[in-house]
Amino acid sequence: MSSRFAFFEGQIVPIEQAKISITTHALNYGTAAFGGVRGYWNPDEKQLYLFRPLDHFTRLLNSGRLLMMKLPYTPEQLTELLIELLRREEFQENVYVRPLVYKASEGIGVRLHDLRDELSMFAVPYGSYLGKEDGIRVGLSSWRRVDDNAIPARGKLTGAYVNSALIKTEAVLNGYDEALVLSDDGHISEGSAANFFMVRNGTVITPPVSANVLEGITRRTVMTLLSDELGIPVIEREIDRTEVYMADEAFFSGTGVQIAAITEVDRRVIGNGATGPIVNKVRDLFFEVVQGKVEKYREWVQPVYVAERETA
Ligand code: PMP
Repeated sequence: MSSRFAFFEGQIVPIEQAKISITTHALNYGTAAFGGVRGYWNPDEKQLYLFRPLDHFTRLLNSGRLLMMKLPYTPEQLTELLIELLRREEFQENVYVRPLVYKASEGIGVRLHDLRDELSMFAVPYGSYLGKEDGIRVGLSSWRRVDDNAIPARGKLTGAYVNSALIKTEAVLNGYDEALVLSDDGHISEGSAANFFMVRNGTVITPPVSANVLEGITRRTVMTLLSDELGIPVIEREIDRTEVYMADEAFFSGTGVQIAAITEVDRRVIGNGATGPIVNKVRDLFFEVVQGKVEKYREWVQPVYVAERETA
């Protein structure tokens, strides 16, 4: 099953009608920003739960601000719009939602000002992103991460994903599943589309938000679950390349990859070469949380369908 509807130019339309011209500014100059939101199907409750949609839409609108966009929506309104779209789709499986804000004016001239802004959204059924979330093999990229003073990575800007595409393709053609990318200063930033964590001596370490990373919503989720639920210390600090080689465990986090254990970096085995105990624990908890099964974190999940009335 694929998408039947899209939110496009202010309304929900059949997906075939959601088309833009080849003269669109965003297509020519990369002047757009996107998001990625997952919906998790809970078969027991027959409910589709959106994971942290308000946080995703807040980040999307902030990316829009970076591109000097004026968009007439609040995160709450976008969540409502998304729920309406998904109710039309009637999916009963895991989904991935792609919202996009883009410079919609047609014509030539690279700039950010005096252009029309639009927002689109569609959803597709979606399972695993890497195909395996256990034991991924990673190589250090020969590319460097885009810098905040060139193309800000925190903006999730479409143009910046040329950097991610270069990184991902190089990794795959070199026989890896994913890449780790260094910033220009030589420290670890993140993967092509995921945040990086490693475990050393019982402490979880991740690069700070000033390390040219996307401020990942899964990253924040994982940090909370590790420290508040599992009692494992988490710190944000610069990470040297060779620290990774000596890590006890490592993983990527992201809406797409979810939590993916890294078991090899530059042909060096991480830990004992299998998914480590901390990654296993936090991942199990994560999958409970995203399906709305943990009361304390119910505020992170937003049900799409009207709950069936309980019958006596
Ligand atoms: N970094 C990059 C470059 C990404 O594209 C993504 C995916 N959105 C992430 C990190 C993870 O962010 P999130 O957890 O919000 O999906």
